[in-house]
Amino acid sequence: MQIVCLDLEGVLIPEIWVEFAARTGIDALRRTTRDEPDYDVLMRYRLDILREHKLGLPDIQAVIADMGPMPGAKDFLDALRDTFQVVILSDTFYDFAKPMMDQLGRPTLFCHRLEADANGFLVNYHLRMPNQKQEAVRRFKELNFKTIAAGDSYNDTTMLGEANAGILFCPPDNVIREFPQYPVVRDYDALMSEILSASARIGI
Ligand SMILES: [Mg+2]
Repeated sequence: MQIVCLDLEGVLIPEIWVEFAARTGIDALRRTTRDEPDYDVLMRYRLDILREHKLGLPDIQAVIADMGPMPGAKDFLDALRDTFQVVILSDTFYDFAKPMMDQLGRPTLFCHRLEADANGFLVNYHLRMPNQKQEAVRRFKELNFKTIAAGDSYNDTTMLGEANAGILFCPPDNVIREFPQYPVVRDYDALMSEILSASARIGI
């Protein structure tokens, strides 16, 4: 029994904050964990900027719905779910991901949540637990599932390491250099082949 765990942003959908900044023209939202390594500081900064621009959750969700998943993502995911149980493990928030999850056929998603006030403005965020990608894979193993995990970035590498097989999808060069143990694929056909060969290799 095997489960495929997929990262969301950078694998099936665009990076939400980056794309949101581009679409709204709010340059201040381009800031990432590379500029501000303290995630809590970064998130509070982002929530403040959204409020300053009077963007409540419905406005934000409308922009996100317009982004859409990456080309081919839905077909890839449908084909994958034909053969495997698939769980998406992401560090995004349900409230942000919802419009694109609808477009992806509502696969199972484990992520975090946002808190809005009565006017729809975001006032806080809640991480379900620290390091949830790796923890989820660990728990699936305890439930006697073998796992194949694929992601694109640093925040996926502990999940890849915990899984029976890990795959990098369109990663940046520094991640490839630092984690040479994982195969690198750059499109959905190659990702599917790599998942199928990992599946045969790790056994049921
Ligand atoms: Mg990602």
